[in-house]
Amino acid sequence: MIKPLTCPVCNKSLPPQVTQNSGVFPFCSARCKNVDLFRWSDGKYAIVEDLAQRPDILQEILENDLFSQSDEEEDSY
Ligand SMILES: [Zn+2]
Repeated sequence: MIKPLTCPVCNKSLPPQVTQNSGVFPFCSARCKNVDLFRWSDGKYAIVEDLAQRPDILQEILENDLFSQSDEEEDSY
């Protein structure tokens, strides 16, 4: 089960060219990634906290996308 990926900054669906290898994942664009970095560095509330506080979800997303990667750490189950 893979939930539709949405940008944690603008909440839009990630464009198909954005993958975990694209350098901006899980954001829709470099702009949103920078917005998030700025929010963190500024010490303000960040919309991305949902993913930031749930690394298990992010890990699940990555594992589901990395079809045959088998050396992921599995210490949470
Ligand atoms: Zn975005």
